[in-house]
Amino acid sequence: MSTALVLAPKDTTALEAVVALIACGAREGKTAACRAHAAKGHGLLRIARTGALDALAAAICGAVRGGSCADCVAKAEQIHLAVEEEVR
Ligand SMILES: [Zn+2]
Ligand SMILES: [Zn+2]
Repeated sequence: MSTALVLAPKDTTALEAVVALIACGAREGKTAACRAHAAKGHGLLRIARTGALDALAAAICGAVRGGSCADCVAKAEQIHLAVEEEVR
């Protein structure tokens, strides 16, 4: 696992951007996440790769105590699908 951003493969960076965009709320005409979500992309992708949907939803929601809203669970599912496609 690399923590050096400069050495990250291009694919990972692109996937992080996709993950961040979904977390931010992807919709038509929107091509990039806001800065807050873009910064979260790396961490969210890492959680997504563990396959823990509930942890992912909680991270998107920003919930520390666990439990996340339906909106964030839906986003987590979307991210999970996007990441799985990439890993395959
Ligand atoms: Zn955002
Ligand atoms: Zn939420």
